[in-house]
Amino acid sequence: MNYELRASNLEFRILNSEFARLFVFILLIALSSCAPAADEDEPLAPAALPTRAQIATPARVPSAPVPLPQTIIDRYSVRAGDTLSSIALRYNISLDELMELNGIADANTLGIGQMLKVPIKLTRAAPGESFIPNSEVVYGPAYENFDIAAFANQHSGYLAAYRERVEGETLTGAQILQLVSERFSVGPRVLLTLLELQSGWVTNQFPAQIQYPMGLIDSTRQGLYFQAGWTANALNEGYYGKLSARLSHLRFKDRARAFIPPSLNAGTLAVMNMLAQTTTFDAWQNEIGADGFSAAYRKLFGEPDQYAIDPLVPRDLRQPALRLPWSDGEMWYFSGGPHTGWGENGGRSAIDFSPDDIAGSGSCVASRRFVVAAAAGKVLRSERGRVVETLNGNNFQGKGWALLYLHLAAAGRVGPGVVLNSGDKIGHPSCEGGNADASHLHFARLYNGQWIEPNAIPFVLSGWSIASADQEYDGQITRGAESREACNCREDAKNGIVADTGK
Ligand SMILES: [Zn+2]
Repeated sequence: MNYELRASNLEFRILNSEFARLFVFILLIALSSCAPAADEDEPLAPAALPTRAQIATPARVPSAPVPLPQTIIDRYSVRAGDTLSSIALRYNISLDELMELNGIADANTLGIGQMLKVPIKLTRAAPGESFIPNSEVVYGPAYENFDIAAFANQHSGYLAAYRERVEGETLTGAQILQLVSERFSVGPRVLLTLLELQSGWVTNQFPAQIQYPMGLIDSTRQGLYFQAGWTANALNEGYYGKLSARLSHLRFKDRARAFIPPSLNAGTLAVMNMLAQTTTFDAWQNEIGADGFSAAYRKLFGEPDQYAIDPLVPRDLRQPALRLPWSDGEMWYFSGGPHTGWGENGGRSAIDFSPDDIAGSGSCVASRRFVVAAAAGKVLRSERGRVVETLNGNNFQGKGWALLYLHLAAAGRVGPGVVLNSGDKIGHPSCEGGNADASHLHFARLYNGQWIEPNAIPFVLSGWSIASADQEYDGQITRGAESREACNCREDAKNGIVADTGK
């Protein structure tokens, strides 16, 4: 077997996978305690480990048969003092091979910060068995009637009594998990399971671990709000990393890396990816094994398959007609191509547009222009800069198509419950809600709670079709012979688009 997947910004090459090698390498792993070659461009994670409530007797999880080793292509950022020869030596390839891999003709042209492709041989692999359906990991239809507060109260652990100040408001533990679930569109049962697994907060009134309940020891991310947000982000990195083939391997706290078997579903990879970042490869095997995550989940919710919705996104799904989200006759600027809908490293479902009174100014003053509804629908949420509109009359964000309009100023913003026609005013672009360094609209699609990338289902607005690029925020938008390119600029011919009724 020999195949190659091309991801958008990472080449993922799988080599030497004859099945017969399997047993040799399992033997090698069993005999050897040496870590695989880890590159040194990542800082060492802190050594302390969080308290874990639910880890029973350590038991080896048998790995599914994954032929090893696999060579993947990763990226290395050139630092002062590096030479091509020293880098080649570090990654155990010849200078010629390194130059060929990177298309470098002259070995003396290396620059600090330059990104090089480097081969890494993975001698470990994640198990190949999936243990959680995709639909559990996203905030989709399986959660329509799930009440986080009722669940937390029923278990009366530390979570039920928890309060934290978030963005100027005191929220309960359940409200924090609700906010994180909606914003990142991740499944709250999975967040609750990870919380219970990592710190026992769901059922234990007096857990030992208070600062880092999700197990990420990071002084900049203390408390449930930051821990849950980080968790949601890591889940999405794994989930959409699988769907888009961008995630080539798992990376652990101790900098070990592991091959991802192609058999894993996106939901399982999401959980694996989150846990990998909080622990070592050895400890992780217990956490993802039968006594770890799955046991914690079953204890709280029963069998995960009972909630499964499959497929979550039908193969033949098409986007309903959407218009450009500003008024006809106005020129706005395509300022960001496909990038993460929420957070970092998630589904590249969002694009950015800047109105003409702001574009190019770098200003966070709210625009006088209005964002308008891209389709008829209902405003489900309008808070903290975020407007969520569901289409088809749905009263739940995670059901059917939903549109996210972000960075809308509180002043002049449509209220929740309002029924919209296509083209109705929604609010003014600003910097409110999340990170924005100039007033703009961040616009993204969800279907059944899954962020929808343009590569998965064509993203078309008034006949303009969006195309992704390797780099986040790059991209094109085309209609017939017309084409614009995303850039953080204001050049009518390059990224300016006048809205019209569409074709
Ligand atoms: Zn954006």
